[in-house]
Amino acid sequence: MSQPLVVMKDVNKHFGDLHVLQDINLEVATGEVVILIGPSGSGKSTLCRTINRLETFESGSITIDGKELPEEGKDLAALRADVGMVFQSFNLFAHKTILENVTLGPIKVRGLKKADAEKRARELLDRVGIGHQADKYPAQLSGGQQQRVAIARSLAMDPKVMLFDEPTSALDPEMINEVLDVMVELARSGMTMVVVTHEMGFARKVANRVVFLSEGQIVEQNTPEAFFTNPQSERAKDFLGKIL
Ligand code: ADP
Ligand code: MG
Repeated sequence: MSQPLVVMKDVNKHFGDLHVLQDINLEVATGEVVILIGPSGSGKSTLCRTINRLETFESGSITIDGKELPEEGKDLAALRADVGMVFQSFNLFAHKTILENVTLGPIKVRGLKKADAEKRARELLDRVGIGHQADKYPAQLSGGQQQRVAIARSLAMDPKVMLFDEPTSALDPEMINEVLDVMVELARSGMTMVVVTHEMGFARKVANRVVFLSEGQIVEQNTPEAFFTNPQSERAKDFLGKIL
């Protein structure tokens, strides 16, 4: 059997006195879609950020495709390129066009020629439904469109895994589905994904597994069907009671 793409083993992290990640053991197989869910402040964002070393951790190990994450340097840049991340805020470069936003990483980090990077960027922008807006600037697009560009920008790096941290929670309600639809398509295309979201419909549609985090610990994990209909722990029952 092939090894899991992402392996977190006994990962611990503190922010001062706060033990924000406690003995986290999490494996994500190639092609798997894992939903990370839990109360505000439970450590979901920190866990995602730790996977691609935007945060350090004190003990344990994290491997991506069998490779341990280096602390810093060129290897880290290359490894980080394998781990795409989409945040709640879209973080596009305001003074660059949509096309430039998507080609920048591939040219600088992956060493692609400009023409090749642009060809690929246009394909990806078509895929997320933004093809006709390639020459606009981010501020000329809606929030939902900007988030789709952010997804295309991540995909342009050919990541092995994509992390999404509440990608729709900053969007107006009518724009949520246009972003979720892109993520559903991505999941069905076989992309390995870790998604922090409270969007149950999305979770039921594409998730292989729901991982419930509370106070820095993985409390339970199950299929979406089982987790949402029959949570085992008091903490999960309490949490679901508040959001459902
Ligand atoms: P979630 O994404 O589940 O809401 P976070 O991972 O953002 O949770 O935060 C987990 C806990 O760590 C919270 O109590 C938060 O206040 C704290 N925290 C997050 N980032 C920092 C930081 N840079 N410094 C200190 N504490 C932090
Ligand atoms: Mg968060």
